[in-house]
Amino acid sequence: MQVRWNFKFKPNQTQIIKMSEWLISLRKHRNYALRERETGYNTNNQNADTPVSYAWGSYCDLESRIEYGANCPLTCPVLKHGVIPSDLSLALKTSSGIIKWDIASGIQMKVTTQLRHQYCSFENIDSDVLQRNIALLDTAFNNFWRHGRGFPQYLRKLDSFEYKPGRVKLINFVDSYATVYLPGIGNVKMFNSRDLNLIKEIRTCTVKRSADNWHISMLIEIPGELPEVKTKIKSVVGIDVGVNRLVALSDGSFVENIRATTNTRNARRLAMRQRAASRKINGSKNKAKAYQKLAKMQHKLTQKRNGHNWQAASKIVKTADAVGREDLKITNMVKRAKPKHNGKGGYLKNGASAKTGLNKVILDCGWGDLFNKIAWLAAKSGKPVIAVDPKYSSQECPKCKHIDKKNRSGEKFICTNCGYADHADTKASRIVAKKVGLLFPSKTKKLPRDSRKVTPSRYQSSVVETRNHALEQLNTQLSLFDLTDYMIADNRESRKYGRKSGESLSL
Ligand SMILES: [Zn+2]
Repeated sequence: MQVRWNFKFKPNQTQIIKMSEWLISLRKHRNYALRERETGYNTNNQNADTPVSYAWGSYCDLESRIEYGANCPLTCPVLKHGVIPSDLSLALKTSSGIIKWDIASGIQMKVTTQLRHQYCSFENIDSDVLQRNIALLDTAFNNFWRHGRGFPQYLRKLDSFEYKPGRVKLINFVDSYATVYLPGIGNVKMFNSRDLNLIKEIRTCTVKRSADNWHISMLIEIPGELPEVKTKIKSVVGIDVGVNRLVALSDGSFVENIRATTNTRNARRLAMRQRAASRKINGSKNKAKAYQKLAKMQHKLTQKRNGHNWQAASKIVKTADAVGREDLKITNMVKRAKPKHNGKGGYLKNGASAKTGLNKVILDCGWGDLFNKIAWLAAKSGKPVIAVDPKYSSQECPKCKHIDKKNRSGEKFICTNCGYADHADTKASRIVAKKVGLLFPSKTKKLPRDSRKVTPSRYQSSVVETRNHALEQLNTQLSLFDLTDYMIADNRESRKYGRKSGESLSL
């Protein structure tokens, strides 16, 4: 089966300089190619009577794109009256002979070959890497046309380049490190963090830079296949993700939220570093250094979240034979608060800053990332993961099925109808497990017994003073959460580094 393995590089100084130089040239190359297609598209002569002298991006109509076998005016074949610039000798060999046009990326790849003879900054780069650079631009266009992503952007920073399959070779490896051959760069050491004996074939490889770390991401072929997904399920675990506790499992346990970037200490440090960096003189070395420092910190925090989410995912998948989760539209949940008009041309308070703060915390949790990790770990052990409709999972009473917004108050769930009480998140996860359980008629396991455990009310009393302005307006777009959840003070031991988290910040 094909898997992607990441390794950390241990490049020497020469290699670092070389790779960094490549990234600069590749960024310029990509931006150049994008600009060329864009101007070609905009200046394309659409009147068939006059000769077209510009070949780049000459296009067919969107309706007729199938006819030309491409999906986008900016990447599809040049029109039949499109002419190739005279200084370009291009020919595309097909079964029906030689034709005089090519797709935009084909033309640009050929031009790139010419560029390599003219400029030494391009000459130094491996030709495969340059070609992949154009291909990646094509992917960006595909994503735009087919998958509703944004229009390809001009990059101010490029952090990765790619090798075609079979180019990167594993030279040797011992227990602690291995050496890989990167064409154009040389033999690079990397940390050997996997069983490299398993590798049957190395396919596409991507070299990435993150702060001052270099990684290689290898798509490789290893023996074995993913197991069949089990259909006979004995137990189901439901999960409910939140901001206060990262995950509540239906067996009553929790995974804490480490709040990698939004806990008191780190949020403050990030803000400080960001502020310090932005105050440095533009273009100065000090500014670059300050941003490097910030990037390092962000990289470290990302890794922390990553590791934590792997552990959480592993714990969840090990719990039962099937995993149920809520089908959350995270992008919708982190939208800005809508402005509120007061009818006189002005605005009313709409809780925007509270919502922004909540959005930050939601994004910091990395739920989507967690779901991906759960999906992968479950796939490896043949367990199904089912996303269920999240509607009312936080309001429904599992005992009498009474749905009421008032059932929930902060962390507590107390049914207004029958008096059933539980931890709100645990209860929500049980509802999810129940919904999933219904899909498996032969399930034998009962839902865990009601623990009747609710955290003592001191949790509620410490309702946040940390973001005082957040308290004023609570009523916008905060579906699925109580704001009170988010506003519970961060009580973990981080006092040494700053304010006590309970104290109010005067913002
Ligand atoms: Zn009830």
